[in-house]
Amino acid sequence: MDVARESIELLGQLARLILFEETRHGLRDREWTALRFLARANRFSRTPSALASHVGTTRGTASLIINELEGRGYIEKSRSAKDKRSVTLDVTQQGKKLLARDPLNVLVNAIAQLDDDRRVGFRDTLRHALDQSDTGHQRHRADICRGCMFLKESRPSPEGGVSADFTCRLFRAAIADAETLLLCASFEQRKR
Ligand code: SF4
Repeated sequence: MDVARESIELLGQLARLILFEETRHGLRDREWTALRFLARANRFSRTPSALASHVGTTRGTASLIINELEGRGYIEKSRSAKDKRSVTLDVTQQGKKLLARDPLNVLVNAIAQLDDDRRVGFRDTLRHALDQSDTGHQRHRADICRGCMFLKESRPSPEGGVSADFTCRLFRAAIADAETLLLCASFEQRKR
């Protein structure tokens, strides 16, 4: 069998570890996906609509997931002072503790054991495969700012200082260097 096809079949077997029927530590796979996403999402994406888009579900199902996670004390909602309809979802300390028992940690640890080159190569290979299959509903997948067409590096001010590391042209907001490594549901792949 050629290596490319064998790799994809192995990915299919890995997917069965990620998507499961039963509950693990009391949560279903979608709830785990939502909790992981909220722990890594930037400030623009910790919202019910971004969560629904990332999990690949309707707003109604996303509300059920949010209520379940909130009821168990793993996330908390806060409302914007400017717009009371706008809700932000944050992972609580209890949620962070549960994430330390994430069923996917076994896979994370297996990849962490690889040397730097193989680990980075593995990540880049998966991102390449995802980029190549970036059609239809996959077009709006969540990813980090670094490859996004809306990210603009800030220029030094005439006085010599720098007002912010980066700017997001979509949200018209300053983005700190550390924020560029967080997930965003509005990510759009930069044209090559
Ligand atoms: S630059 Fe792209 S990924 Fe980053 S916050 Fe803006 S839209 Fe999201």
